[in-house]
Amino acid sequence: MLMGKLYLGLVHHPIRNKNGELVTTSVTNLDIHDISRSCRTFGVARYFLVTPLEEQHTLVGRILGHWQEDKSSVYNPDRHDALSVAQLVHTVEQACSSIEALEGVRPELVATGANFAAPNLKCAELKERLEVDNVPYFLLFGTGWGLHATLLDQVPWQLEPLYGASADGYNHLSVRSAVAIYLDRLRSGLSGPLK
Ligand code: SAM
Repeated sequence: MLMGKLYLGLVHHPIRNKNGELVTTSVTNLDIHDISRSCRTFGVARYFLVTPLEEQHTLVGRILGHWQEDKSSVYNPDRHDALSVAQLVHTVEQACSSIEALEGVRPELVATGANFAAPNLKCAELKERLEVDNVPYFLLFGTGWGLHATLLDQVPWQLEPLYGASADGYNHLSVRSAVAIYLDRLRSGLSGPLK
């Protein structure tokens, strides 16, 4: 099946802190490994870890480098394989340029968040667009208290939040859970067990 490709970004800047201020968060080991596995499983073309901090590039680059070594592919081939989709970039714009270089067209940006007041894209619609459009979509996830307005203001699409089923409306998932749930909703039914 010919499909528009799906790319995913985990943003560490610009991010909101508890008080709504603009901050930069740190990359976590769990987010590197778990989200890479989800991306690899659901056919995401590339998982961008977005951080402007050079120390984080050194640290995360060392982790990715370690798992890209040949001996790691022997020790834990699944992890080695999963991390092949992960790429460090300094900004969302840098990731967009990378996607454009790969696809020949700029991606459509889609933001995620638990609290959007007026989301303008439903999962079912994005799933359909991915199946019929020949355009890459770049799905952005937040860290800290979520994506900052300076980024949200530049993103045309806000995906409907995951509402769950709690009686009081609580829906604050870890970013790793949110990624896995969205990817299942967007990619389910596209492949099955190998025959
Ligand atoms: N430190 C936190 C953690 O444990 O992952 C990071 C929280 S960060 C605000 C969570 C991100 O996951 C959000 O920015 C959003 O991208 C996504 N997310 C979490 N819950 C969500 C929901 N109910 N609907 C949509 N996206 C959600």
